[in-house]
Amino acid sequence: MSKLKGVEEFKASLRGDLIERSDPRYDEIRKLYNAMIDKRPLLIARCVDAADVIRAVNFGRDRNLLIAIRGGGHNGPGLGSCDDGLVIDLSPMKGVRVEPHARTVRAEPGCTQGDVDHASHAFGLAVPAGIVSTTGIAGLTLGGGHGYLSRKYGLTIDNLLEADVVLADGHLVTASETQHPDLFWALRGGGGNFGVVTSFVYRAHPVGMIYGGPIFWEARHARRVMQWYRHFLPRAPEELCTFFGLKTVPSAAPFPEGIWGQKICALISCYAGSQTEAADALKTIFTELPAPLFQHLDTMPFPALQSLFDPLLPKGLQWYWKGDFVKELPDDAIDVHLEHAAKAPSTLSLMHLYPIDGAVHRAGRSATAWGCRDATWSMVIAGIDPDPRRAEAIREWAKAYWKAVHPFTMGGAYVNFMMEEGEERIQATYAENYAKLSAIKKKYDPDNVFRVNQNIKPAA
Ligand SMILES: Cc1cc2nc3c(=O)[nH]c(=O)nc-3n(C[C@H](O)[C@H](O)[C@H](O)COP(=O)(O)OP(=O)(O)OC[C@H]3O[C@@H](n4cnc5c(N)ncnc54)[C@H](O)[C@@H]3O)c2cc1C
Repeated sequence: MSKLKGVEEFKASLRGDLIERSDPRYDEIRKLYNAMIDKRPLLIARCVDAADVIRAVNFGRDRNLLIAIRGGGHNGPGLGSCDDGLVIDLSPMKGVRVEPHARTVRAEPGCTQGDVDHASHAFGLAVPAGIVSTTGIAGLTLGGGHGYLSRKYGLTIDNLLEADVVLADGHLVTASETQHPDLFWALRGGGGNFGVVTSFVYRAHPVGMIYGGPIFWEARHARRVMQWYRHFLPRAPEELCTFFGLKTVPSAAPFPEGIWGQKICALISCYAGSQTEAADALKTIFTELPAPLFQHLDTMPFPALQSLFDPLLPKGLQWYWKGDFVKELPDDAIDVHLEHAAKAPSTLSLMHLYPIDGAVHRAGRSATAWGCRDATWSMVIAGIDPDPRRAEAIREWAKAYWKAVHPFTMGGAYVNFMMEEGEERIQATYAENYAKLSAIKKKYDPDNVFRVNQNIKPAA
């Protein structure tokens, strides 16, 4: 391919590095978290500030390059990169500033969940987000963001106060309830469709030490545990987030070797409050359910729980996942779950049900772009394996499982738990908010410059 015009000038105009295919660092830098996705961009602009981002957007748009925006690179279908285009890589932008008195946190888009937790925890604060510390906050936030604090404090977007955004025309604007409120509405759930966010301001909450951790039961108890859990969760205090999983015991410490590789069901909890209150909230687990196979409940710093699963999920595994919003868990759905979970093709493959009730329901369906405010859970079925030769097996398992259980769900899914599944799925996810999103897309990005995402088409 002949060299693109203006690359040297573009390179010289950046404070960060511009990585070309000839660069010895290219193959390492282009790698995504999900090793099933192997994209070869033409250029990777490693932006260090908003000025770099403005230059990158202008350069890519003026040359009609496909533009991908990369935060933490954790996206399942690899939407943080593209083939033959320009990646605006924000991973060097890692500044975090905590305002302890105002209880706000300003974070740059290269931060991971762990970066934000680390900075906030020093002040006894936490921003509600996800449950694995290596996930990028940018993609997570723009898709919605759920985790251990959602029942008490809402989704990540419910705690977003402000965002600086470089638009498709290269201008930087601040979006908030009072500035560009339409854009602010769309950013809260609409993903990377509207511009490149260079800074997020969040509301933080007083969460320091928590009580929680995993409890496992043998798979033969899974039906009983699921039936119990569907009644338990809606009645549990909002300080408690307990998610459900059908999984396999990882072959690693701290799990006792005797149970490695055993199929199980799990409840993984976080109580954001005192140990006494937590023990009270969790006591029926021990009085009403069969004796667990394993448990690891303890008082710990919130970031410790947030990073508990990191060692099991390093960068470079094969991932194929599908999701759905779930309101109820009837017995027929439980039968389907048990049948397909039993066929999991690898020890890392899983099905999780993450609670999105409590405070998440208190925001109206039209308050943010994330319109699903009456689901009980966000479900993910993830085929995961380190071996690329198992890619087909994990993909087929996840697809078949999802197809069987989908009729029991609400139709749409969390956009951050979707592969590239087509426009119909995206529309089902945003439901009645789609038309408004599409109109806002037309206003801020009429030519669909930002289309490497769960794409919302500009209104006709
Ligand atoms: C192991 C694991 C655990 C997870 N756990 C959770 C969880 O607990 N809760 C949860 O809510 N989600 C969770 N997720 C899903 C996660 O939210 C998505 O994978 C998300 O895309 C990650 O964001 P990222 O910045 O790392 O992604 P990237 O791949 O960097 O980006 C994904 C997309 O986000 C957009 N984007 C990224 N940065 C910007 C920006 N600055 N401006 C505009 N658009 C941008 C772009 O459209 C891009 O295509 C998890 C994912 C993994 C792999």
